[in-house]
Amino acid sequence: MPGKNLSRDEAQQRASILAVDGYQVRLDVTSAPDPAAATFRSTTTIAFRCTEPGASTFLDLLAPTVRSVVLNGRALDPATAFDGARVHVDGLAAENVLVVDADCAYSRTGEGLHRFTDPVDGETYLYTHYEPADARRVFADFEQPDLKAPFTFTVAAPAAWDVRSNAVHERVTDEGAARVWEFAPTQPISTYLTAVVAGPYHVARDHYSRVLPDGTTLEIPLSALCRKSLAPYFDADEILGVTKLGLDFFHEEFDYPYPFGKYDQAFVPEYNIGAMENPGCVTFREEFIFRSRVTDAAYESRANVILHEMAHMWFGDLVTMRWWDDLWLKESFADFMGSYALIGARTRYSGAWVTFANQRKAWAYRQDQFPTTHPITADIRDLEDAKLNFDGITYAKGASVLKQLVAYAGSEAFFEGARRYFKRHAFGNTELTDLLDILEETSGRDLKSWAATWLQTAGVNSLTPQVTVDSEGRITELALLQDGETLRPHRIAVGLYHRDADGTLVRTERIELDVTGARTVVAEAVGRARPALVLLNDDDLTYCKIRFDAESLETLRTGLGDIRSDLARALAWSAVWNLTRDSLMPAHDYVALVLRFAGQESNIGVLQSLHQQARSAVDLYADPAWRGEGGRLLADGALRELRAAVPGSDHQLAWARFLAQTASGSEHLGLVRGLLAGTARIDGLDVDQELRWSLWLALAVAGQATDEELAEELKADHTASGKRQYTECLAARPTAEAKAAAWSAVVDSDELPNALVEANIAGFAVPAHRDLTALYAAPYFKLLERVWAERTIEIAMRIVGGFFPRAQTSEQTLAEVDGWLDGHPGAAPALRRLVLECRDDLARALSAQACDRG
Ligand SMILES: [Zn+2]
Repeated sequence: MPGKNLSRDEAQQRASILAVDGYQVRLDVTSAPDPAAATFRSTTTIAFRCTEPGASTFLDLLAPTVRSVVLNGRALDPATAFDGARVHVDGLAAENVLVVDADCAYSRTGEGLHRFTDPVDGETYLYTHYEPADARRVFADFEQPDLKAPFTFTVAAPAAWDVRSNAVHERVTDEGAARVWEFAPTQPISTYLTAVVAGPYHVARDHYSRVLPDGTTLEIPLSALCRKSLAPYFDADEILGVTKLGLDFFHEEFDYPYPFGKYDQAFVPEYNIGAMENPGCVTFREEFIFRSRVTDAAYESRANVILHEMAHMWFGDLVTMRWWDDLWLKESFADFMGSYALIGARTRYSGAWVTFANQRKAWAYRQDQFPTTHPITADIRDLEDAKLNFDGITYAKGASVLKQLVAYAGSEAFFEGARRYFKRHAFGNTELTDLLDILEETSGRDLKSWAATWLQTAGVNSLTPQVTVDSEGRITELALLQDGETLRPHRIAVGLYHRDADGTLVRTERIELDVTGARTVVAEAVGRARPALVLLNDDDLTYCKIRFDAESLETLRTGLGDIRSDLARALAWSAVWNLTRDSLMPAHDYVALVLRFAGQESNIGVLQSLHQQARSAVDLYADPAWRGEGGRLLADGALRELRAAVPGSDHQLAWARFLAQTASGSEHLGLVRGLLAGTARIDGLDVDQELRWSLWLALAVAGQATDEELAEELKADHTASGKRQYTECLAARPTAEAKAAAWSAVVDSDELPNALVEANIAGFAVPAHRDLTALYAAPYFKLLERVWAERTIEIAMRIVGGFFPRAQTSEQTLAEVDGWLDGHPGAAPALRRLVLECRDDLARALSAQACDRG
């Protein structure tokens, strides 16, 4: 499709001559409940100015049909003006009114206006998701963040529906079987931030008010929405409780009143991402509503996302990046604020920085070691680049670097900077320098060189301690060695840990210092008794991989679980995982650490990460000859810890899930079947619906679930979630037919919604079935370019990443990948980037396997 991929140059050119005064968008979705209706009517009226009268420009629109285009009263022929992706208009006046009347398509992929039918009650639900550039699937627009404008939405919908948008509705009128919702104009916002949520949603309402410094009272109506059939599980009080704590906190810190009126939070079906910060109308994936028991880590994660999106109301919505190069200006900040506010707003999730160290940083380290990594401020040439940049660098590394900035410049300077930034750039667009200038004002520090090394270069540093001691065991020198392509200034803490009387590893000294260059000596450590453990980057202030001296590593081997501090233990776990991934510790040894100490791990989020990483260690990084035994060891460990766990605890549930993920022998599978049938019981373990599906998946993978049994389970749980998990179970059966059916359902048709694409891929790609899926490697490479050209980018990304033959860890697969890369130098850069990243994972696995063989 010509021009589907908007470039930065085109956007700059357009912004240089245009300013938008306002959009009026009228959508008619009364046809939505009829599955045969593929489209809805979309009429956009745009008032805009042009500094070069006579010039031409284009609007963005991805629609099956354009009915009419009228510029300043002059009708243009849609057949020539519309090319499938753009509406071309010429002869612009200084002041223009353009009307585009189109039929747009309901989406199945979560991009644009997504339509979902609930299998429970047949009800239809709609919601929009646009970032970075899918508003053009719903109305004609100038699809770029820096052409902000007020939007006035009017939506005609079935009469029984509730309809929400960014602003409050001003009027609702009945027109026959339809009801027309007219919304107030929004503040000036970017196209990707507009939103419509429509359907017979269940709504919980609340209210927030606050006296502002000027004595006036700010009133914010709150609501939380979900599908009717999920209402029995909807803990809206908990969600709205976190929301109010967040509003208190951000008003205190940011000193800028929430600018978007009301605050709706809609939990929507088949959502591609975690959540989206549409001003006044935030959308979340509905998996955040828990139908079955989940661990506290899931509640913490949801609260983090609620606060992340709320931070965006200021970082992102009020002040927005000019183009996607500076996506980090909102995502790094919101990601940092999600954790910061969990603690600052006094939610009950006081371990937020442990989770951050454990999960967000793992994401960043992984991404930052790909050959495709990039500086935090990226070079984003076009929309395809932009789409791939919602990654571990922009979010997690950016947030880590902001955490380091707070340690480096001080939190007062940081937040005073934020306050000035909002006031100075409200409703505008910014770039890196706009922020740096302000932070230099508030911190009094030169941040140009800091930014040059931290924001404008890629890659992660490693810090290694070098300890020398005298004959009495006293430190004569503690030096820190820094590796990496760019050596950076790090503000860090060094922890010295000794064993106390009962064997616990406790910190006896904390030394904070600046690390610069390749070698830094910790003068303060001289003369201290040699500790059992030297922990660099203690308290996780900076962003780096940490290594250990030999004696500290030996302490971890025998006593990692004895470290008292949750955060220090999480850092140690993270470090040994990095050692494993870097082929510096055999996967056997990592698995042994998990088997030995995971049972002692009190932090539930860390425990769940260990489960995931231990499986990857066995599936990908261990000597293939040992895989079978490694898997059995994990399952044995899971069973042992499941039986030992406190009845009814989160830990018990986590170990039960881990057993389901690792069960392979007859003893484990027998217990799985017994739990499902009710003939076996674990005291305190509630085998609820989600756990049942995990157990069925274990049987399906082992070839021990019959089609009738799976169909029976679906009948008992005929819900959206049940359908997804049933689909995954079918694809996860160990037969050639099951794999062929899953492959074909995804590749040969675009009928499946995003959620079922994902379920089929997950079931297909079970690592244990590598022999069955091996023959799909060759077809995979053949279909890449076709998939990239024909499918929406969201679905194409899933197919490219999900069907990559990652379980085929062999030199031959590596050669096949290289063959494709060499043979397709002209493939879309975003597609090549995805394949290069998968290749890097594969090469890493091969190297780790060699290390594990010894
Ligand atoms: Zn975000």
